[in-house]
Amino acid sequence: MKKTPEEIIEEMQQVAHQMVIDDLEENPDIANDYFDCDCCGKNKCLAGSIQYGDYRLCNDCVLLAETGFALGKFNDIQSLMDAMEDSRLEELCQFIKDEETRKKHLEN
Ligand SMILES: [Zn+2]
Repeated sequence: MKKTPEEIIEEMQQVAHQMVIDDLEENPDIANDYFDCDCCGKNKCLAGSIQYGDYRLCNDCVLLAETGFALGKFNDIQSLMDAMEDSRLEELCQFIKDEETRKKHLEN
């Protein structure tokens, strides 16, 4: 059965969260290691980050990238980086934010 975008987003959030947990279990020291994310440009913790080709992405951007790939919003990491450059990413991130908002409504 085909997954709904909601299910995909939820699954990706769990996967991304698990990456942080796994990284910290494997190497607790990286909790104090920071790097400049190639995607959002922020100084982020190494835990849960992933190297995609020439780029290292923080966990937040990994979530965005993986969700984007799963939903067919981008085909490769370069499309994500290009989207980031012309600040189209804000728009693309909206689908995750919308989903989070929708969930909050359901909970209330
Ligand atoms: Zn980032």
